[in-house]
Amino acid sequence: MRSFKVVDFNAPLKEIEEPTPGPSGTQVLIRVKAAGVCHSDLHIWEGGYELGHGRKPLSLKDRGVSLPRTMGHETVGEIVAFGPDVKEADKGGLKKGDVVLAYPWLGCGKCPTCVGGDENMCAVKPNALGVFCDGGYADHMTVPHPKYLLDLKGLDPVTAAPYACSGVTTYSALKKVDKDLGTPIVIMGAGGLGLMALSLLKALGGKGAIVVDIDAKKREAAEKAGALATVDGKAPDALEQLAKKAGEPIRAVIDLVGNSQSSQLGFDCLTKGGKLVIVGLFGGGATFALPLIPIKAVTIQGSYVGNLRETQELLDLVRAKKVPPIPVTPMPLAKANDALVDLQKGKLVGRAVLTP
Ligand SMILES: [Zn+2]
Ligand SMILES: [Zn+2]
Repeated sequence: MRSFKVVDFNAPLKEIEEPTPGPSGTQVLIRVKAAGVCHSDLHIWEGGYELGHGRKPLSLKDRGVSLPRTMGHETVGEIVAFGPDVKEADKGGLKKGDVVLAYPWLGCGKCPTCVGGDENMCAVKPNALGVFCDGGYADHMTVPHPKYLLDLKGLDPVTAAPYACSGVTTYSALKKVDKDLGTPIVIMGAGGLGLMALSLLKALGGKGAIVVDIDAKKREAAEKAGALATVDGKAPDALEQLAKKAGEPIRAVIDLVGNSQSSQLGFDCLTKGGKLVIVGLFGGGATFALPLIPIKAVTIQGSYVGNLRETQELLDLVRAKKVPPIPVTPMPLAKANDALVDLQKGKLVGRAVLTP
């Protein structure tokens, strides 16, 4: 098999040829058809997150990410073989040749959180595919158990790959404000996640969103994707613009950027009792005044990807509501490095998807 691996943080990915692994135990071997290039891959590649306030950056090495590592956690593949310990009942009706989405946010699989279905929140041993073990920047990949493979029947592999991360991330964030979806919500960030959030919001029957981004090209993309309105986050009157364009109190903000400026604006525009859901991992420190949290009785909630059940719900929603695909740029696997560099420079509109 051929893969593109991070061998040193921040260094170009290295192309590696090695024997294709036969699936062992309960593993399933898939032949990769599509692998989304996600913004969080940049953090893995760069080795960490900025935390602000002069703190030492959060190092992924300290969190157990070892190298070399094949990134890629938005992977669609065709089932090639099941391991010897996979029982018929484990397969959930899947068979060789089926095209599946690999749910990547695995944990230890044994702790109460994992057993309860929230492997993405496992605090014992995070095992995410493409982060802590090898992922989809390759022509083959193994997945530990067939239960993590979701049937993609009827969906296009290339545009469906991002549902494993940006899709379930935005879906899970929207679920956290579902009682407010009848009012205009604010979405910070019009990158891949922002566009995904807009289309899922519509599928969920939401009123719509005002989208904030500092990049005019991305605001334009958000308007085309059905935003109620857009606001330049750098405008000195951004807060007033948000209030005016919403036309009613803002009860929910989803911050897909997650830097000091976006969280501050998101916090400030909320009405009493509102909720700020922070998803983005851009980095930095929070700047809002603490007394305003109780005075405005706001809720600040973090949202990290989503669980297996939400991923299945999302695929069902996409099929039922015929959610239009977000714009993707298919690129050959050999261009994995260029895709990362383009993403780092902010040159991509929508998602780059590697197609081995
Ligand atoms: Zn991701
Ligand atoms: Zn666990």
